[in-house]
Amino acid sequence: MSTALVLFRRDLRLIDNPALTAACESHEHVLPVYIHDPDESGAWAAGGASRWWLHHSLTSLQTRLHSHHAGLHIRRGHSLAILQELIKHSGAEAVYWNRLYEPSAIANDIRNKAALREQGLAVHSYNAALWREPWQIATQQGDPYRVFTPYWRNLRAHLQVVAPLPEPTLRGWNKLPGGLELSALKLLPAIPWDAGFAESWQPGEHGARQMLELFCDDAVSDYAQARDLPARHGTSRLSPYLHFGEISPRQIHFALIKHVKRMDAKRRPDIEPYLRELGWREFAYHLLYHFPKTPTENFNPRFDSFHWNPPDKALLKRWQQGRTGIPLVDAGMRELWHTGWMHNRVRMIVASFLTKNLRQHWHEGERWFWDTLVDADLASNTLGWQWVAGCGADAAPYFRVFNPVTQARKFDPDGVYLRRWLPELADFPLDTLHEPWKDPERARQSGYPSPIVDLAQSRQDALAAYRTRKD
Ligand code: FAD
Repeated sequence: MSTALVLFRRDLRLIDNPALTAACESHEHVLPVYIHDPDESGAWAAGGASRWWLHHSLTSLQTRLHSHHAGLHIRRGHSLAILQELIKHSGAEAVYWNRLYEPSAIANDIRNKAALREQGLAVHSYNAALWREPWQIATQQGDPYRVFTPYWRNLRAHLQVVAPLPEPTLRGWNKLPGGLELSALKLLPAIPWDAGFAESWQPGEHGARQMLELFCDDAVSDYAQARDLPARHGTSRLSPYLHFGEISPRQIHFALIKHVKRMDAKRRPDIEPYLRELGWREFAYHLLYHFPKTPTENFNPRFDSFHWNPPDKALLKRWQQGRTGIPLVDAGMRELWHTGWMHNRVRMIVASFLTKNLRQHWHEGERWFWDTLVDADLASNTLGWQWVAGCGADAAPYFRVFNPVTQARKFDPDGVYLRRWLPELADFPLDTLHEPWKDPERARQSGYPSPIVDLAQSRQDALAAYRTRKD
């Protein structure tokens, strides 16, 4: 009887899981394993919000595996040592996993693969997370892309609709010694702050499918217009599910095409704008793979001499708590704290406010997002922060400073989003809601803070600092 170990990492699903399917096709016994080792992620071990998600996603995966009369062997510690121990106990002759693309994960996988192969084990790895892996796309000169549009043109030309792999049948599962209860990983917060998360999300493969169905039914038709309106559920909210691999881009693409084909030809929405956003995710992985230092270093070295203000703990705290006195910034930061997610347009605005109006280093925002987002993803978070700060690949020019008041008037004209997250301003009339400081008496009575910075002056200061940057 041949036995294989399947290592689950950020591919927490049974459908369209190439490593699992391949193992089930070639071996009688397949043993699903999850090894938790925060040290292997180096400086980027999962933050608090991600750990919450991971706990519930693993719970969901366990339930899914139980329906196959199988289980998930959970361990904590050094992955190679644990794999070697499990191989010894189970007599496994092969190990399967789906690839990750973070620099520390790549280094671990190379080390583990080499050591296991040296022991005579077969090791198989697969792509489960991307349409195209970072090294599969290059410019005509064979270089990595640095600009999104030509990258997307190339990727789009190769994009095919591929049916997802069906859920495999798992046969036989021997309990391995030393397995832990999920609770032993202590992923949930000791002091509960996660009530809003549970109201907002259902982690796991089933939750991902429901979110995709909701998007197909309610939002995809209007995505190009509604994706910028934070008060609406106009986007797919699939980012955490994609990050944890509870759904794949291939599944999403296939489902969208199927959905659109069922519609009356005259009413068929254009899904290109949505596919393009998934293209940004692929571009983020492309950049992280080819420029692995960018989570901590400016992609554009001309920014190395930029004069950031020294870290100001008091200002940072006001930003983190959503108490800057700038309504759209505060609404976004409170949405983030309450739900672990923030609308993309608002992410851009809070990031611009931090890096330009407050001139705090983009690392400060990157770290806070890392800890508080349920979709915190090294590739996309790095891209997002460097893009807004102006130092990234294909970035917004530094002189583009989002004005949070104009943005709020444009994208939340009726103030629905502001009122939802800022109860102090709920009774403000529309003419002062976006600028409560224009009615100082009402603002004082409401308890809503005064602005921590003058928007116009801080914009001028940021532009002046940019001009004095050494090229
Ligand atoms: P939709 O509009 O439905 O888009 C579908 C999918 O496309 C998303 O789920 C996501 O996987 C991908 N996508 C969309 N926009 C982007 C983008 N700009 N960059 C990369 N992928 C994108 N996204 C993360 O997944 N994790 C992060 O840690 C993250 N940090 C960010 C930080 C900043 C400062 C900014 C400006 C953006 C960040 N983003 C991040 C990108 C984007 O905000 C989210 O992917 C998006 O808001 C997720 O919501 P959605 O699933 O409804 O998106």
